[in-house]
Amino acid sequence: MSRPAAGVRHKSLIVTLPGSPKGAKENLQAIVRTLPHACLQASGANSRPLHAGGVKKLESDAGISSPRDQHTTTHSHHHHHHDGHGHGNLVRYTNPNTKALSSDPSLGTARRHRESPYPMLSVADALSLISEHTPSPETYARPVDETIINSVLAEDVTAQEDVPAFRASIVDGYAVVVPKDGTMKGVFPVTAVSHAAPGQAQAQPLEEGQVARITTGAPLPPGATSVIMVEDTMLRTTTDDGKEEKEVEMQAEGVKEGDNIRQQGSDIARGSVILTRGERISGVGGEMGLLAAAGVSEVRVYRRPVIGVLSTGDEIIEHNRPGPLRPGEVRDTNRITLISAAKERGYEVLDLGIAKDRCASLEETLRNGLRRADVLVTTGGVSMGELDLLKPTIERALGGTIHFGRVAVKPGKPTTFATVPVKDNDGRRVSRVLFSLPGNPASALVTFHLFVLPSLHKKSGVSPVGLPKVPVVLGHDFPMDPRPEYHRAVVTVGSDGVLTASSTGGQRSSKVGSLRAANALVCMPGGKGKLDKGSKVDALLMSAVMSG
Ligand code: AMP
Ligand code: MG
Repeated sequence: MSRPAAGVRHKSLIVTLPGSPKGAKENLQAIVRTLPHACLQASGANSRPLHAGGVKKLESDAGISSPRDQHTTTHSHHHHHHDGHGHGNLVRYTNPNTKALSSDPSLGTARRHRESPYPMLSVADALSLISEHTPSPETYARPVDETIINSVLAEDVTAQEDVPAFRASIVDGYAVVVPKDGTMKGVFPVTAVSHAAPGQAQAQPLEEGQVARITTGAPLPPGATSVIMVEDTMLRTTTDDGKEEKEVEMQAEGVKEGDNIRQQGSDIARGSVILTRGERISGVGGEMGLLAAAGVSEVRVYRRPVIGVLSTGDEIIEHNRPGPLRPGEVRDTNRITLISAAKERGYEVLDLGIAKDRCASLEETLRNGLRRADVLVTTGGVSMGELDLLKPTIERALGGTIHFGRVAVKPGKPTTFATVPVKDNDGRRVSRVLFSLPGNPASALVTFHLFVLPSLHKKSGVSPVGLPKVPVVLGHDFPMDPRPEYHRAVVTVGSDGVLTASSTGGQRSSKVGSLRAANALVCMPGGKGKLDKGSKVDALLMSAVMSG
C-alpha cells in the first residue's frame, strides 16, 4: 500500500505507512501521540470513561493543539463514538465523505452490483461537471515557432516594432517630390536608385524635379513624397553604354503626397496590441505571421495538457501484431484512434499501452500515467462485467472521486469522469483528470469528442469548449433511440448555403467504421420512431464541411 491506512484486527492496531521515508516519517509523527489512546481502546478498554472528557480532553492528553486546522487530515482509526471528530492526524488521500460506489472486486463476482449504482446524468449535467472539475490552465512563456500552433494566448501581445519599419514603396516605379499642384508632367533626370535591401538609409535627399528609381518594398529617399508607377512613365534617354536610365517622362496629374507609399508603422504600429488574451494561434498562419512581422519572439500561452491514453482488456492485443488472431483476441483499435484524434487537435500524447483486467496491473499503469500526464483517457472496463475494474480501481486504489459514471447518451452510457489527487514532481498536491470511456470503438471515439475534448479545451484555455454546434437539415429519415443519440453523419453545404446531414449508416457501438468520413455528430433527441427528412436539428462539427 502506498497510502496510509489503519484498522483493528482482534486486539492489534494496524497502521500502514507510505513507502517513502519522508512520507513514513511525516505520517508516523502525525499519529504517534494518539497511539497510546488508540492502543488502550484496541485492547478492549471501556471507551465510555476514556471519552468522558470529550475531544478537547483527548487532544490535550495527547498534547495535540489544533488538529482540525489541517483539513486534509481526518481521523481514521477504528473508533465508534466520535465519528468525524479528529483526535488523530492520519493523512487521508481519499475524501472520506464520498463513499465509493463501485463494487469491491476483492469480494468476488457474486458480490458485484447487478445494476449500476451511479446515477444516470444528462449530457448537459455531465458537461457541467467536467467544466467544474477540470483544473484551470497554467501559463508559460514559449518561443514563437511552430510548436505554439493550437496554443491559446494567456496575455495581450504588443508589437515590438513598426511595420513597415521605414517608409516603403508599394510599387516598382519612381520616387518623386510632388509639387503643390500635384502635376508631374515632363522629362525628369533619374538621380538615384533605391532597392529593397538594407543599408540605404543614408541616401541623398531627393529634390523637386528629380526622380529616383525605386523597387517594391524599398525605402523612400529622404524628401520623396510619392511614387509614380513604372507603368505610368516612359524612358526618354539612357546612359552612354545604354544600360542605365538617364531620363524618364511622366504625364501625371493629381498626384498626392503619400501615393503608393506605406508609411512607417502603417501596417502595425509599435506598441499596439496585435493579439489578445484568449486568442488561439491557428495553423492557418495569420497569427503566426503577425507575431513574426512585429518582432515578437516569445509569447505567454496556456500550457496544453499532456494526454495519457490507455487501453484495457485481457483480450486486447497490439493492433499491428503479426499473424492471425487467436480465439477471443481483439486488435487494439481505441488506442491508436484516440492518440490520432488527440494529436490532430494539437495535444501531446503519452502512450500508456494496454493494461490487463487485473486490479494491480490497472492501478500501477494508472498511477504511472497520472504522474506523467495531465489528463488520462482509458477505454474498456467500465461496463457491468466482473472484470470491469476501472471504477473500483479509481475509487478504491487511487482515492479518486468519480463525478459521474453513467450518462444518458448513445453511444457512451458508461462514460466515467473522475479526478484523482496526485503529487506532482515538486511534491505539490494536484488534481488530475481521468476519463474512462467505453471499450467499443465507436463509443470511445464519440465520447472522446463529446466529453474529453471540452476538458482538454478548458485545460488549454480554449473557449468556447467542445465541438462547434451548427444547425443542419436531415437529408433523409433518421431513426430515434430512447436515449439522446449522437449520430455519426456527413454534413455538406449546398449551393443555397444550407447544411444537410446524411447518416454514415449502421450506428452500432462496435462499428468504428461508422465514423469513417464522418465530419459531424448529429444531436438526435431521445424518443420513439424517427425524425423525418427535412427536420432541423443541431450537429457538432468534428471537421470541415465540404460542398455537397
Ligand atoms: P468493455 O467496456 O471492456 O466491456 O469492452 C466492450 C467491448 O469493446 C468489448 O467487445 C471489447 O472487446 C471491446 N474493446 C475494448 N477495448 C477495445 C480496444 N482497445 N479496441 C477494440 N475493441 C475494444
Ligand atoms: Mg473489457
